[in-house]
Amino acid sequence: MISIGIFSLSCCEGCSVQFLNLEGKLLEVLKYYNIENFRLAKELNSLPVDIAFVEGTPTTAEEVKKLLKIRRDSNVLVALGTCAATGGVPGLVNTMSKREAMKVYDSNPPYMPVDPKPIDYYVPVEHKLYGCPFSKDELMELITAVIMNKSFKNRESSVCVECALRENACLLDKGELCMGPVTRAGCRALCPSNGAPCRGCRGPYEDANYKAHIRTLMDMGITREEIIEAYSMFSYEPLKEVIAWLKEQ
Ligand code: SF4
Ligand code: SF4
Ligand code: SF4
Repeated sequence: MISIGIFSLSCCEGCSVQFLNLEGKLLEVLKYYNIENFRLAKELNSLPVDIAFVEGTPTTAEEVKKLLKIRRDSNVLVALGTCAATGGVPGLVNTMSKREAMKVYDSNPPYMPVDPKPIDYYVPVEHKLYGCPFSKDELMELITAVIMNKSFKNRESSVCVECALRENACLLDKGELCMGPVTRAGCRALCPSNGAPCRGCRGPYEDANYKAHIRTLMDMGITREEIIEAYSMFSYEPLKEVIAWLKEQ
């Protein structure tokens, strides 16, 4: 039986909760997988494991050490959710001045602070599950791929593609700041399908045309500051060069 562990670094632990939300599907998973380590669900936890799912990102030297140990004691490491995959919301602290950031870190005095980064900044990562929280369907795809010894691939298109497939009216036409054109597909355009603009929680995808998106938003009358805020929300780390360029416009 394949052993798995779900581990948390700095984050809201929403991705751990999402694992519990698998409910019936979790029982299916347990036919093939043995959960060796899951702080939210078990009292006794152990390493090594075959597959380590890591949510969050290190914000202290202690957490960097924890991540290195998980890597050493696992065969496959999966970045679980956008915090782990791109630095996500914790990466917002990198938009602050050092002085502001130190005020945040000062609430945690025994630890040596480190800037939030995607976990593959520290260790090799075999797979990334994007989303805040990750998509349950994509987790099942990944788990099935491992059982069947097949490869798992992230979507390489934008949320707009899935939005068009669902025949949604485009929210840009209503003047709303939608991040769909530069955000990785895989959520079946969850937010626009429910009348809300995409906030970019799955992070950018490979071929995103940022300049075209930014130009469209500016032509709509959306301010540079609003666009910078939207680009920084989940993706400050991967988009910091685009954000720096935007600040110069
Ligand atoms: S990706 Fe979102 S839900 Fe998951 S741990 Fe980070 S903030 Fe929480
Ligand atoms: S609503 Fe957003 S995600 Fe949907 S097509 Fe328009 S820009 Fe793309
Ligand atoms: S539509 Fe955008 S914000 Fe909503 S779940 Fe999908 S990627 Fe995340």
